[in-house]
Amino acid sequence: MTTDIPPHLVPLRATAYGPDSVHVSLSRLRAMVLDGLAPAETGFLLGLGATSSAALRAAAAHERTPDGARSPLERLARAAESAASAALVPHRVAVTGSGAMAAALGELFATGRGTVVDPPSPGPHPDLRASGAGPAIVICVSSEVVDLVRAQEWRATGTTVVPVVERGDRVAVGPVLRPGRGPCARCLELYQVGREPGRAALAAALLDAPQLADGDPALTALAAGLTALTTRSELAGSGPPDGVGLVASLPSGTVTHHRWPQHPECSCVTMAA
Ligand SMILES: [Zn+2]
Repeated sequence: MTTDIPPHLVPLRATAYGPDSVHVSLSRLRAMVLDGLAPAETGFLLGLGATSSAALRAAAAHERTPDGARSPLERLARAAESAASAALVPHRVAVTGSGAMAAALGELFATGRGTVVDPPSPGPHPDLRASGAGPAIVICVSSEVVDLVRAQEWRATGTTVVPVVERGDRVAVGPVLRPGRGPCARCLELYQVGREPGRAALAAALLDAPQLADGDPALTALAAGLTALTTRSELAGSGPPDGVGLVASLPSGTVTHHRWPQHPECSCVTMAA
């Protein structure tokens, strides 16, 4: 699945602000003020109501649009698109896994900015690696245990991974697994093995087990939102510190932070020494 969002279509709404200015609300962006308008231009813009930059350009080009309104319409469309493109994250995000969580994440990225790639299973497809068109971040959704094999395969290609692990009434988001620094997926698993003898065999069996029924929709929505925000901030260069992840829990939607440093026995530490 590949979805490109047209960058020239920015939803907006103009509201009266002063005698020669309008306040412009932009979806998902900070509002702006367009001033220096003639009264007729202000009236025309306000009369448009909720619209989009593409509709503004169409209105500017329409033969029945007053000449004086063409320029402010174009200015407004250009300003809205400029603001939107400044916040654009021109990277590709892949979502692996199945169930409601993976579907919710795919939808969030498809209706947001950027591109969603659903790579062939399991792991990175050779074509993606060879073409250099692979995702900047892969979100690996799994149940009960981190999808270790898939996460490590992506890490080996230099790709950042955000693990999302559903465990009944809790969902762990992150930590962001960055190649070359911070913990890897095996580090996370080694911490679990330390707490639960026999964990390694269980983890392998769990990954091959049939898919569980979807979890609580409210928890899925909360965790998917946290995952999308974490991923977008990572793409924008302001992601969470190394090893810091979130856990969202029922019944009240509590969100807590946890920190997982690199595990001293993991090969990502011992091989780098
Ligand atoms: Zn490691």
